[in-house]
Amino acid sequence: MTSITLHGAVGEIGGNKILIETGSTKLFFDFGLSFGKFGEYFTPYLQPRRWSFVKDYMSLGLLPDLTGLYRQDYEKRFRESTKEPKYDGVVLSHPHLDHAGFVSYLRPDIPVHCSPGCKGILEAFEATSWGFHEYTHIKEAFKFRPGKRDATKMVKDRNSVIPREICKFKPSFKIDDFTIHTYPVDHSAPGSNSFVIETTEGNIVYTGDIRFHGRKGNFSDFFVEKAKTFDPVLIITEGTNIDSPTAFGELDLQQALFPLIDEITGLVIVNFPVRDFDRMRSFIEAAKQTDRSLIISLRQAYTLRKLEENGVTNIPRVDEVGIFVPKKGWGVHNDINYPIEIQMQDYQSWENEFIEHDNSVTADDIIENPDKYIFRCDFSELKYLFDIQPPKGSIYIRSVTEPVDEEMELDQRKADNWLKFFGLYPYKQLHCSGHASGYDLQEMIKKINPKSVMPIHTEKPADFSNLHGNVILSKLGEIHNL
Ligand SMILES: [Zn+2]
Ligand SMILES: [Zn+2]
Repeated sequence: MTSITLHGAVGEIGGNKILIETGSTKLFFDFGLSFGKFGEYFTPYLQPRRWSFVKDYMSLGLLPDLTGLYRQDYEKRFRESTKEPKYDGVVLSHPHLDHAGFVSYLRPDIPVHCSPGCKGILEAFEATSWGFHEYTHIKEAFKFRPGKRDATKMVKDRNSVIPREICKFKPSFKIDDFTIHTYPVDHSAPGSNSFVIETTEGNIVYTGDIRFHGRKGNFSDFFVEKAKTFDPVLIITEGTNIDSPTAFGELDLQQALFPLIDEITGLVIVNFPVRDFDRMRSFIEAAKQTDRSLIISLRQAYTLRKLEENGVTNIPRVDEVGIFVPKKGWGVHNDINYPIEIQMQDYQSWENEFIEHDNSVTADDIIENPDKYIFRCDFSELKYLFDIQPPKGSIYIRSVTEPVDEEMELDQRKADNWLKFFGLYPYKQLHCSGHASGYDLQEMIKKINPKSVMPIHTEKPADFSNLHGNVILSKLGEIHNL
């Protein structure tokens, strides 16, 4: 008997945790963080208790209460931990945190399967972000070692690292009872995949996050063509934009940039999602057409490096862009009064490679030739505008999603204040969604022609009843036999 249980993303966007199991094999597809549920309880000032993450998340319904799944260092703080894992693997559709963010809490002996692009993004995320991000390496908690000065005294051991088994998946692979076919698809993150899962009771399609109107729409079309040949009994499909009939495409966006930027005499400042490299491509092309170059952040440069290391090819190259090196720490970068080794101490080790890079760009470079650059600047980087002093005739293009909750609205009000301060208000809004339109979802379901449809990652699952005669509206944690 094969069964499916949704442990997240039911009636909400993100937090996907899909358990597909037979009597002998248990497999999760995605293991994400629900930003919605997290935001119901936590703020930057009220964070989870680090020593009790797993138990607290379980109590609040952010993690399912299952044994043999979670890291033993945390689990043994509140209950007996099983010796062996009870799950055979976790397969990730893509590296967005609403799909992969809770991998940090899984036992390291449960293998994680993902694409090279997904692995590269998670590695970069782990190295460059604050907070608890232990996707590829687990720092073992609550461990002691003998002190260095006095070996009879025990001290906290903060350096014990357990590598997690991250397998880069092949086009098709087997995990016990299941054969999984992977298809790269179009979405706003590199390394995004949809799946067909062959089981003894029939084939299941899982879309992950998907769209058809981006740069790789043909990848999604190919997936749909292949998926229908499996004659699936069930499709588990995302439905973020089920109520938006059409979508503004990535190439439409790129085309709209040229006339907008071409008439700007000052600096072009833009905010686009940090790991959306298809959007980065749109701005690189717009920069080429308008005789400018795109300046990206150190974090983006490092992420591109990690993707290259993992063999990902369809992304911008670091030598196609400029890399912005802001003054940090003591603010002594490029100050001849300080030796280079003091200047370098303002930066973290992962940033070092780019500080003196051939393509590095400083605020002084931008001040000298503002009409030569498109400067990527997100909310947390607005403070760098003090050093850049955008001249008259500059513009700010907002190329991220509209605020969807109170916290984002609050941030947007603060961003507006910064933009007003620097004479960049009103800004231009130009964005293309990472998710398929209602029409494209309808076409996808029609073509794949599954026996039943299970909507996930949507606030309006009931809307799918207009698209198919057999829609399963699952509750959280409800077991569905195939
Ligand atoms: Zn998502
Ligand atoms: Zn996503």
